[in-house]
Amino acid sequence: MSQPRIIIVGAGFGGLAAAKALKNTPAEILLIDRTNHHLFQPLLYQVATSVLTPGQIATPIRQRSAQSEEHDSNHGGSDRGR
Ligand SMILES: Cc1cc2nc3c(=O)[nH]c(=O)nc-3n(C[C@H](O)[C@H](O)[C@H](O)COP(=O)(O)OP(=O)(O)OC[C@H]3O[C@@H](n4cnc5c(N)ncnc54)[C@H](O)[C@@H]3O)c2cc1C
Repeated sequence: MSQPRIIIVGAGFGGLAAAKALKNTPAEILLIDRTNHHLFQPLLYQVATSVLTPGQIATPIRQRSAQSEEHDSNHGGSDRGR
């Protein structure tokens, strides 16, 4: 029987926490986001005031979820992570 697939939409705090919690589940976890980065929203004001650069609060999702598969939901493309 094939492995079940769990699809998590959104790689914000909630999505990343869900992916982490399901890490050892015998299922394929698919994390989908319309962007390819996780935005650390609590530090947005630091970017607005030029204390930080946008790149300092946006981390590539692939880096955060080593065994995940990223899908670009805007363009319908897919990008298999490691
Ligand atoms: C300026 C600011 C400061 C904050 N400070 C704090 C704080 O100090 N402490 C605190 O606890 N909370 C704080 N928050 C709130 C906190 O950031 C949010 O509660 C938290 O990010 C919500 O997490 P989430 O996963 O529900 O949503 P989000 O983090 O918003 O993630 C949603 C994800 O879903 C993706 N997405 C949305 N629509 C689609 C779609 N159609 N298809 C694919 N992907 C989609 C988005 O790209 C995003 O990555 C702050 C928020 C802001 C804006």
